[in-house]
Amino acid sequence: MTKTLLRSTLLSIAIGLPLNQAVADSLTDKVITNAARHEQQAIAWRHDIHQHPELGNQETRTAGVIAEHLRNLGMTVETGIGTTGVVGLLEGGKPGPTIALRADMDALPVLEKTGLPYASKVEQDYQGKSMPVMHACGHDAHVAILMAVASNLAAVRNELPGSIKFIFQPAEEGPSDYIYDGKRYFGARQLVEEGVLENPSVEAIFGLHVTSMAPTGTIGYRSGPIMASSGDLHITVTGKQTHGAQPWNGVDPIVASAQIITGLQTVVSRRTNIMPAPAVVTIGTIEGGTRHNIIPDEVKMTGTVRTFDDEVQQQINADIKQTAEHIALASGAQAHVSVIENYATTVNDPNLTQRMLPTLQKVSSGRVFPSPLVTGSEDFSYYAQKVPGLFFFLGVTPSRHMGQAAPNHSPEFVIDDQALIVGIKALSALTTDYLTTATE
Ligand SMILES: [Zn+2]
Ligand SMILES: [Zn+2]
Repeated sequence: MTKTLLRSTLLSIAIGLPLNQAVADSLTDKVITNAARHEQQAIAWRHDIHQHPELGNQETRTAGVIAEHLRNLGMTVETGIGTTGVVGLLEGGKPGPTIALRADMDALPVLEKTGLPYASKVEQDYQGKSMPVMHACGHDAHVAILMAVASNLAAVRNELPGSIKFIFQPAEEGPSDYIYDGKRYFGARQLVEEGVLENPSVEAIFGLHVTSMAPTGTIGYRSGPIMASSGDLHITVTGKQTHGAQPWNGVDPIVASAQIITGLQTVVSRRTNIMPAPAVVTIGTIEGGTRHNIIPDEVKMTGTVRTFDDEVQQQINADIKQTAEHIALASGAQAHVSVIENYATTVNDPNLTQRMLPTLQKVSSGRVFPSPLVTGSEDFSYYAQKVPGLFFFLGVTPSRHMGQAAPNHSPEFVIDDQALIVGIKALSALTTDYLTTATE
């Protein structure tokens, strides 16, 4: 028995705390205190990764930096997971469960306009076209934070009752090397399919996302659904081409499409039970015709469907199909509808959320806020479908800039480096808290 353990044992007996709680506090307090040692390195890593952003499935440089770091910490490291993913396993000195911590590595096809000294000047191939690339969603911070957490936890590995899988995944924002058609998965879904949560099997998973919509160092959490599912909607309306002056000789898919778009507005407003969760149906593109005086054969539309509940999602998909097909039929046209699932609803396990909330309070000095539902999507959802998961938001905007901050995905999106330390503390402390209080 170590001196610390002896002291905490005596303390727990003296003040009547359960033994495991007191032990948990000592190791958790230690990793929270030690986090500061890794802050400057994390900031340097983030700036470097920010300056060298890489699109989904092309994160080779980023993966190289991560793999080298994890190997230097003495971890077993696997690379090339689901294209460019890196997974490191840190085995603790004591027996216990395995948990996973996840960071996403990819950037977006966005032309950076932050004016930062470490702003990106990178271009990469995005689905066959050269595009400027920027870490406009803050995944550079996610990588830097998790690398620092790896250092922090590796330093106490002998005291860790269990193991930690560090998952650095590619392509959270989607693949840059092919157009997703629902068949070949990408990002988290691909990793889960490849068995990233097995061998050793993972008991729980934690992840965070930076947000410019909250003040630096605050933590947003929500039990149950937190981020929406996302379906890609594709509608093709087929009519019969004719002269624009003689519509009676053909079938006009443009007028049918206009009616379909109007009809789709009633799917959420008149047919969806909004009691379990809200939903959104949006048509984002419409394409058809070549000339002012020709009624075309075909119109293609695409859109997005967002929900927070699998059953609601299935019902909405069916209602969209029925609405579009029957409106098309009414004008003698035909509609073909498909919805490709891009992301599932991200659901935080209620028990895990409740159990970990005190730790989130602790690492943020009580600056925890209940997050609203977010209609954006996350492929963390696919891990959390398999094992209990907790995904939370980390605020990265200085208080004085709140209200003017550019949102994630904007070319002006910036991150306050002061927020990184809270992310390092949070993922480190969630890990030690979970492992040291694991129920048998
Ligand atoms: Zn994003
Ligand atoms: Zn993101």
